[in-house]
Amino acid sequence: MKRVLSGMRPTGPLHLGHLHGVLNNWLRLQEEYQCFYFVADWHALTTEYENPKRIPAFARELLLEWLAVGLDPEKSVLFVQSAIKEHAELYLLFAMFTPVSWLERNPTYKDMIKELKQKDLATYGFLGYPVLQAADILIYKAEKVPVGVDQLPHLELTREIARRFNYLYGREVFPLPEPLLSEVPKVPGIDGRKMSKSFGNAIFLNDDEETVRQKIQSMVTDVQRPRKSDPGDPENRCVAFQLIKLYFSPDEQAEIVAACKAAKLGCVPCKKRLAEKVVAALRPLWERRQELENRPSLFEEIVTRGNERARDFARQTLAEAKEALFGASWY
Ligand code: SF4
Repeated sequence: MKRVLSGMRPTGPLHLGHLHGVLNNWLRLQEEYQCFYFVADWHALTTEYENPKRIPAFARELLLEWLAVGLDPEKSVLFVQSAIKEHAELYLLFAMFTPVSWLERNPTYKDMIKELKQKDLATYGFLGYPVLQAADILIYKAEKVPVGVDQLPHLELTREIARRFNYLYGREVFPLPEPLLSEVPKVPGIDGRKMSKSFGNAIFLNDDEETVRQKIQSMVTDVQRPRKSDPGDPENRCVAFQLIKLYFSPDEQAEIVAACKAAKLGCVPCKKRLAEKVVAALRPLWERRQELENRPSLFEEIVTRGNERARDFARQTLAEAKEALFGASWY
């Protein structure tokens, strides 16, 4: 089986955007690949270094949600980056031969500095995080990395680092990872902007049933349709319909579109139906999460085991890298 690596930064609770944009894809991938999924807590530090005490709780939250959505610790290796110190050592070794110009020209670096103006990101750690990312990927010799188009330059940097290492030290230690581009469905927040914790418009996976229902009921609909008797245009003007597309079958969607356009369906009952679907889909997640919360020792065991599996692999790769570098794997 080919190996896949992907991670998430523990910076807050997960929401429907993460579920549809990332986790559902991870669930599919774990059936076809050997997947390594990690909590990127050192990456979180690059932007959250002023509030690091929140990171462990967010890391636990990520792992709980991953298990709740159905990631299977028997199939996938679920682990915490900072528990595998080998990532840091490989990162340091890579840092020695990575030209600064490669990092400075990274478009995401410039965009994020602009986007997160309120944070001081002119740090060594932030500039160097693509090198850490390369270490995360290459230490598991991942052949595939699920990415969005905007992250392709990062992956290219990882490939350049792998190439440079293999060339400098004369051995093909690292495979060149390839992107796994996937279609990411658009998940709007309740106000119509992209769903995001910082916009305050998210439906979180750990929201309770009542909260989910209320949030869905407050979703923006077709603003040109103040009364039920006004014909709507769901596909072009209704935010709630973006979510309807994710939760209803094509036949059900067609029925909603027809009824809305014919002014026969009101937004309140329509969103009530949507809330039913979302709650029904989230209920198994809530139940699995509750089971895990009730059995903390099982949760700890799963995380410890995942970390051990990752560490075994990482140690082996690091030894190979040192053998190529120094001619001595013990060094
Ligand atoms: S009836 Fe449903 S699809 Fe039509 S505008 Fe209202 S919420 Fe949107």
